[in-house]
Amino acid sequence: MRLDSDVRYLKGVGEKRAALLYRLEIFTVGDLIRYYPRTYEDWSNPLAIDEAPLDTPCCVRGIVDHNPTAQLIRKGMTIYSTRVTDGRSVMRVTIFNSKYAAEKLAEGEEYLFFGKISGNNYYREMTSPEIRPVNAGQKIRPIYSQTASLTTNAIEKLVAGALAQAGSEIGETLPGYIIKEQGLMPLKEAIQNIHFPKDRLTLERARNRLIFEEFLLLQLGLARLKGREKSATPVVLKNDCTREFFSLLPFAPTGAQKRAVREAAEDMKSGLPMNRLLQGDVGSGKTAVAAALIYSAAKNGYQSALMAPTEILAQQHFKTLSALLEGTGISLALLTGSTKASEKKKIIAGLKEGEISLVIGTHAIIQDTVTFKALGFIVVDEQHRFGVRQRGALFEKGDNPHMLVMSATPIPRTLALIIYGDLDISVLDELPPGRIPVETYAITGDKRARAYGYVKKFLNEGRQGYVVCPLVEGSEETDAAAAQDYVQELAAGAFYGYRLGLLHGKMKPKEKEKVMLDFVTGQVQLLVSTTVIEVGVDVPNAVIMVIENAERFGLSQLHQLRGRVGRGSERSTCILISDAMGGETRRRLEIMTKTTDGFKIADEDLKLRGPGDFFGSRQHGLPDLRFAEMLTDTRLLTLTRDATQKILAEDYYLESPENFYLRKAVEELFTRGGRGGLN
Ligand code: ADP
Ligand code: MG
Repeated sequence: MRLDSDVRYLKGVGEKRAALLYRLEIFTVGDLIRYYPRTYEDWSNPLAIDEAPLDTPCCVRGIVDHNPTAQLIRKGMTIYSTRVTDGRSVMRVTIFNSKYAAEKLAEGEEYLFFGKISGNNYYREMTSPEIRPVNAGQKIRPIYSQTASLTTNAIEKLVAGALAQAGSEIGETLPGYIIKEQGLMPLKEAIQNIHFPKDRLTLERARNRLIFEEFLLLQLGLARLKGREKSATPVVLKNDCTREFFSLLPFAPTGAQKRAVREAAEDMKSGLPMNRLLQGDVGSGKTAVAAALIYSAAKNGYQSALMAPTEILAQQHFKTLSALLEGTGISLALLTGSTKASEKKKIIAGLKEGEISLVIGTHAIIQDTVTFKALGFIVVDEQHRFGVRQRGALFEKGDNPHMLVMSATPIPRTLALIIYGDLDISVLDELPPGRIPVETYAITGDKRARAYGYVKKFLNEGRQGYVVCPLVEGSEETDAAAAQDYVQELAAGAFYGYRLGLLHGKMKPKEKEKVMLDFVTGQVQLLVSTTVIEVGVDVPNAVIMVIENAERFGLSQLHQLRGRVGRGSERSTCILISDAMGGETRRRLEIMTKTTDGFKIADEDLKLRGPGDFFGSRQHGLPDLRFAEMLTDTRLLTLTRDATQKILAEDYYLESPENFYLRKAVEELFTRGGRGGLN
């Protein structure tokens, strides 16, 4: 059987099974073989009961003390339980409702139990474990992401079948010299062992090999994407006016700002178009960096365009930049959906004639009617809110203009290299002096009333605040409904008589803008919101925030939310409420109370939760990474980066025969990821 055969031709797969597999995006036998386990159950090293860790899946070995006894708890609910011992200690095993499982256990026999042990040093219990006779052949079992109708066991069987029928077809993708140099396991062996590992060590080597490959393909592809975009641009800054601009600023730029401007200005002088990400925590001063470059561009005769995701943000930028550029002779305009028709006409004419040097706006500036005399520089704020298409549309209005995209989402360096591999990166890792860090507390729900009292104290002083609603597991609809209930409860109870506003994801953009505007102008004192609080909105008078269900958020997300306060010269406070203050949650929330450094927090988040959250916020086609956890593996990252550079230096287009399969694999990865073909 071939790897590109449809899965429905596999033995044991009918139309129905095939349909279920298609839903997992498994279409071919090759897809199935590359559907790697999510995790493993290690039955190969059973532990003694008192060695086994608590609350962690593990395998324990023991003898059943007596045949399980049944106890009817209520109608339809029977609990079977027994004692298991290994001669040193004892553990209770309980099984819910499964007579079948209970009857597998016979008094005096020895079994392996896989599950989580709860309890403490004196009392241990395993609930609904997986059970096997001790002589069943101890091994490492793969666990696959399953669906309701396709269990991990079923997938395991299908994969085993696919490997038996088509395993011999697996060819090698990596050139022999790399395999040898890096001491990697051949692909066929790696795939066999990623599903059915011989032992721990072999599994580790298999994983290493596959991660290495995935990493290498990704980096090769990204490097070539980067290369492709570098066709010469006529936009060249002959005079770098950075120093002149800095001397006009009312403050001294931070070292990080100077460095970022220098890096970008170098690009803009180079004759190749800039494609750069400016990363900096909220309040790190990204706007001034953009302004410096806009200034230089204007002084060199080029126009600039700054696009923001919402009207409020655009207005805010307009205000800030008007102040920063005042007296420089650079004319700027604000163009949004609500700009009056007559005004709009003037702006469009001004841009076309070149009288306006800078236009700031929402996606209104990518309309067809907007044209430029000489658009040389594009700034995109909060870039994750825009798709590639919108960025592209703006780009098309100039002749290969320079582009700076700005993001306030701190991303660990390793991750940024992957996610934004097609961009160069500048980081603002230093806040302007004098910032007062937001004071953060983590409390349990029984202290909620006190927290509300504290909030009211600020509101009474004329300050404003935010409450982030409890999350409801489910859809945006249920979240919205819950938010409505919640705000009503607050309005009728703790915050009776205060002016509350509500913001949730199901509101129309116009309604959202209205509420935000009411908040900006102070009409609304307390903004109750789901997590949709507008990114980047600056309300310096808002000095307190309460976040409910804090345990449900990733640290980076909490950091983003918290960034809404602490924007003025006052001391600000953030209160995290959670009733799940168990070990892990407590540790996570404590990180929030101890640091306000977004990059540190992002690093912790990556360690604790893996990269899922970060990927979630990226809209466009990054090839899907089956081994996402590799991102925490900096050693492998470095190895593959070196290998990538070496390969590209010797054979940029991967044209040599030994790189043939490598090229095919890179191309396939990037087509699948929706990036379009490579050059
Ligand atoms: P962000 O990176 O979140 O977009 P902003 O550009 O809005 O941050 O800057 C936040 C605030 O800090 C603004 O009020 C800005 O004027 C001020 N600011 C920026 N750079 C400096 C600096 N070097 N020294 C003092 N204040 C600064
Ligand atoms: Mg900003």
